[in-house]
Amino acid sequence: MGGDHGFQVVVLSGPSGSGKTTIVERLIQDAPVKLIKSVSATTRAPRKGEVEGEAYYFLSAEEFAARQERGEFLETAEVFGAGYWYGTLKSELERAKTQGGWSFLEIDVQGALRIMEQYPEAITIFLEPPSLEVCEQRLRARGTETEEVIQRRLRKVTEELQQADRYRYRVVNDELDQALAEIRGILKERKAGS
Ligand code: 5GP
Repeated sequence: MGGDHGFQVVVLSGPSGSGKTTIVERLIQDAPVKLIKSVSATTRAPRKGEVEGEAYYFLSAEEFAARQERGEFLETAEVFGAGYWYGTLKSELERAKTQGGWSFLEIDVQGALRIMEQYPEAITIFLEPPSLEVCEQRLRARGTETEEVIQRRLRKVTEELQQADRYRYRVVNDELDQALAEIRGILKERKAGS
């Protein structure tokens, strides 16, 4: 009936250093279904090269709170316990529907759990790093964070790994092409079933 037929929400989570960013970029370029990446709102400052409206909608704490108050978010989370907020705007799902694709959310575990409550059919994928050591190496190689931030993120990695079994699918990012193939396979299967 409605234009929602076949619409799906895809959620991908993975700890910092799980190699998520590369996977997401490659997936958006080439997937068995049209994926529209949800642009999250955040109160953290833009990193070098991050473009407003592409990487995130960068909001002041006041603006974020005001939108939260108005019920504009599907979920929000204070991701690293450092006072920075992140959230998925309801309008992002609408945008995906309008563009005729599936909404693709790259969000943390807390956010993913909230999405599962609201969209039990969501395709939830947890990207696991091959090991904690690899995570740490990848985080350091990025060279954008202070030692304190790296330590905080590593603690979060350990916490998040414990939640991996809440996701419908788990993919180990040992080898990039292999992990991508697995995720594409999941999407293909779900597309056939929808
Ligand atoms: P960044 O490195 O960009 O500061 O932070 C990324 C972290 O925030 C990742 O763990 C990512 O999954 C999470 N994140 C990004 N956007 C959202 C969002 O809208 N909601 C939630 N819950 N987490 C988000």
